[in-house]
Amino acid sequence: MSLIDSHCHLDRIDLTEAEGSLETALDQARARGVSGFLCVDIDLDNFKDVLSIAEQHEDVWCSAGIHPLAKMKAEDLDSSHLKELALSSDKVIAVGECGLDYYYDAETAPNQKSLFEKQLAVACEVGKPVIVHTREAREDTLELIRRYTPKGLSGVLHCFTESLEMAEAAIDEGFYISFSGIITFRNAGPLRDVVRNMPLDRILVETDSPYLAPVPYRGKSNQPKWVVEVAQCVADLKGVSLEELSRVTTNNFRTLFNLPAT
Ligand SMILES: [Zn+2]
Ligand SMILES: [Zn+2]
Repeated sequence: MSLIDSHCHLDRIDLTEAEGSLETALDQARARGVSGFLCVDIDLDNFKDVLSIAEQHEDVWCSAGIHPLAKMKAEDLDSSHLKELALSSDKVIAVGECGLDYYYDAETAPNQKSLFEKQLAVACEVGKPVIVHTREAREDTLELIRRYTPKGLSGVLHCFTESLEMAEAAIDEGFYISFSGIITFRNAGPLRDVVRNMPLDRILVETDSPYLAPVPYRGKSNQPKWVVEVAQCVADLKGVSLEELSRVTTNNFRTLFNLPAT
């Protein structure tokens, strides 16, 4: 079995269950069939940490980007600097995470929009997909994505919690949809319906660790090894085996991020 955690923050995970060692945490995931990890950047200061983790591990990649809640002023983002970071190593396979989060911070919507748009433009310029964080900002997110897909933008809506209509609209733009441990939560019935309606060839799975640990580990600090629980839940909802789900989502990941097939 070969599964990929398409979104994790390896520089922030709690290592107490792994003898204080990131290597051990990754080994625990590898022992369960996890063959790759995308360590996601949240701001410019964070980039050197995620790149160094990716450079130290053959099965880890990273991204470069600014999270919508990172409190960065859009006008302070030097696009050419972000472009340099995104092109600084083959290990950097995506721009992000970036996007719009009106659930936690609707007041800064105008700034979030222009920060997001600048990063979409960079993604197009460097020819790498974008990792999109979107929460309660459906219209604005889709509108901005649609502005850049004609320029070659591709990407993923990560930790998806929105409606089926939004997922379908993003898929129409060539995007992928990534599901996290939230789909295992007891009150996530509507989201499980979204999963049931998603075409298998557009699905990715992720932990978003250290956040959002899946059932039965809910409340604990999330670990990349628990991407198996997320994948098992998706497999059950789609009525396929875990092996098949792993094969397809790993393939999807490699297609989206322009990596050679294994
Ligand atoms: Zn996010
Ligand atoms: Zn994240």
